[in-house]
Amino acid sequence: MTNRTFTMIKPDATEKGSTGGILAMINAAGFRIVAMKMTHLGAGKAGQFYEVHKERPFYGELVEFMSRGPITAAILEKENAVEDFRKLIGATNPANAEEGTIRKKYAASIGENAVHGSDSDENAAIEGAFFFNKLEQF
Ligand code: GDP
Repeated sequence: MTNRTFTMIKPDATEKGSTGGILAMINAAGFRIVAMKMTHLGAGKAGQFYEVHKERPFYGELVEFMSRGPITAAILEKENAVEDFRKLIGATNPANAEEGTIRKKYAASIGENAVHGSDSDENAAIEGAFFFNKLEQF
């Protein structure tokens, strides 16, 4: 699984119609989409996905935000996928994101930051399996 990562296009980006633009940047950077779906997480599922952050002060806000509208979930393949995708999305806070990154172009704030990207190979596998069964991964 070292050549795969997991991403979500978050509700803020869906609302703004940025899904196509973000997918184009992902493809242009050399990632192959091997699984993809649009879905609307309820608060339960969003809370479960971000369970590792449940002690953080922003957890409630994060769950509310992530369940506010549809998201697009995808598994991406590329050599060095996790690290390269974190570079492509940029810093969590778009104010600190470099030019040319997805968050620099599409994110509004540290909370509403347009995209998720897994932070390790282990989490990429766990997060991908949260959304896609084996038959849905190509
Ligand atoms: P990431 O790996 O860059 O997504 O960042 P983290 O793992 O630190 O945080 C997960 C997600 O929680 C971020 O992408 C944001 O959507 C949200 N988040 C992080 N910090 C804050 C914050 O200070 N306030 C709020 N409202 N949301 C935050």
